[in-house]
Amino acid sequence: MMNSRNWIGGEWVTPSAGTIVIKNPSNLSEEVGVMHLSDVSHVRQAEQAARAAFASWSRQTGAARAGHLYQMAAGLETSLEELATIASTEMGKPIAEMRGEVMRGVNLLRYYAAEGVRASGQVIPSSETDVLQYTKRVPLGVVGVITPWNFPVAIPVWKFAPALICGNTVVWKPAEFASLTASRMAEIFASTGLPAGVLNLVIGKGSQIGDVLLEQSSLNAVSFTGSTATGRHVAEVCARRNVKYQTEMGGKNAAIVLNDASLDKTIAMIVSGAFRSAGQKCTATSRIIVESGIYDRFVEAFAKATSQVKLGAALDPSVYLGPVASAGQHKTVMSYVNMAREQAEIIAEGSLPDSSADGYYIRPLVAAGIDADHPLVQEEIFGPVATILKAADFEETIALCNRTVFGLSASLFTRDLTYAHRFLDEAQAGMVRVNQETAGVEYQAPFGGMKLSSSHSREQGQAALDFYSEIKTCAISYA
Ligand code: NAD
Repeated sequence: MMNSRNWIGGEWVTPSAGTIVIKNPSNLSEEVGVMHLSDVSHVRQAEQAARAAFASWSRQTGAARAGHLYQMAAGLETSLEELATIASTEMGKPIAEMRGEVMRGVNLLRYYAAEGVRASGQVIPSSETDVLQYTKRVPLGVVGVITPWNFPVAIPVWKFAPALICGNTVVWKPAEFASLTASRMAEIFASTGLPAGVLNLVIGKGSQIGDVLLEQSSLNAVSFTGSTATGRHVAEVCARRNVKYQTEMGGKNAAIVLNDASLDKTIAMIVSGAFRSAGQKCTATSRIIVESGIYDRFVEAFAKATSQVKLGAALDPSVYLGPVASAGQHKTVMSYVNMAREQAEIIAEGSLPDSSADGYYIRPLVAAGIDADHPLVQEEIFGPVATILKAADFEETIALCNRTVFGLSASLFTRDLTYAHRFLDEAQAGMVRVNQETAGVEYQAPFGGMKLSSSHSREQGQAALDFYSEIKTCAISYA
């Protein structure tokens, strides 16, 4: 069995503020590890270690920091299979998807490593003679990174890779149900010779140590991904303390199907958007808005496809979706499944796994016959549950798409270029995609949402560098 550990100032610490036994969500009779909970003192130590390391890390050349990130990428790639297996066993994401996620982490580290030697800043003409005026990026200091369990490898990496290359040091608090994966990642990075204190891992409950990190530490910035409720709290505390923050939160992403859509391709992408990772992606497709002329054909084909997806243990390479991650997730998602059974028309429901293993399995479910303001259509379910709405025409599909407090991702399926461009203009979401699923945005492109999905900055791609640095305007007279 694995034990989670903190990595603080280059030292391994097993905290003793409590333990939680982690069970395999694919097979609850299997205990996969023990999470050891931190207390306030560990958060303080981690912050102090990061502060101490900042002076020398931020003074290293970009090329030297890049060297470390390339080593981290190599370490992650070498351990790809092992790390993917730990994560699949800890939080139930199918192994094939998990391998892809670790590879995304490798690519993110390489992408940001290259930024270490890339030009940044501008020379701005001065109004005076013999004055050189220019901008440069400077690091923020110590950055707190708070991450969810649903992308246990990629999300932390897409935060700390740009943070580190910009010269910041990091205190990382992963989600409870990603603690074993986080510990193993820290071990991998430690083995690559990352200097002590540059990246610090503190494992514990958000409710116990999260607020200490936010309220009592002197962090210079916080990057959070998680639920909208927690994210709003993070934003409030950071705004009050004037700490730079970024919150990426929930979604209720729409896929619109117009009458002329290519049905085969559309079905495959919407099934993937709705049910891969058991619907536990912030960018998962959860509202399917279908124009009336194709509605009956779409519903029939989508129901058939849903009934054929394979639900099973995360380590089975042939499964399409695994269990949901935890008892809490199972309870919440099942409350929506029961709501759908009572209040909606069930279009399709997949099958339970063939094996008799006891896990947090939820059959993929498609519901229709409810109005656009129903909780099933408006609330983030974060499970394998999709709702279908019928719309009279393109105008109504857009109105329904935008009828939500969220604004993370949205897709349109059509062959009509005019509607495609109108959708890209009019859909209120940070990521808008035509003939592509709502999930699957690439690491080199900006990632983030509008409305209650985000604090409106962007992660990944070049956009992340804007968050993890600030601009200094420099002027020097040489007259
Ligand atoms: P969560 O909000 O419960 O937890 C996220 C993190 O915040 C965890 O590390 C948790 O321990 C910590 N936390 C909890 N309370 C805290 C507090 N008071 N102070 C500081 N930290 C605290 O979310 P989750 O269940 O881990 O993740 C699922 C959610 O994440 C979904 O809503 C999903 O949409 C969202 N998500 C968003 C994105 C995105 O980029 N927009 C990506 C993935 C997941």
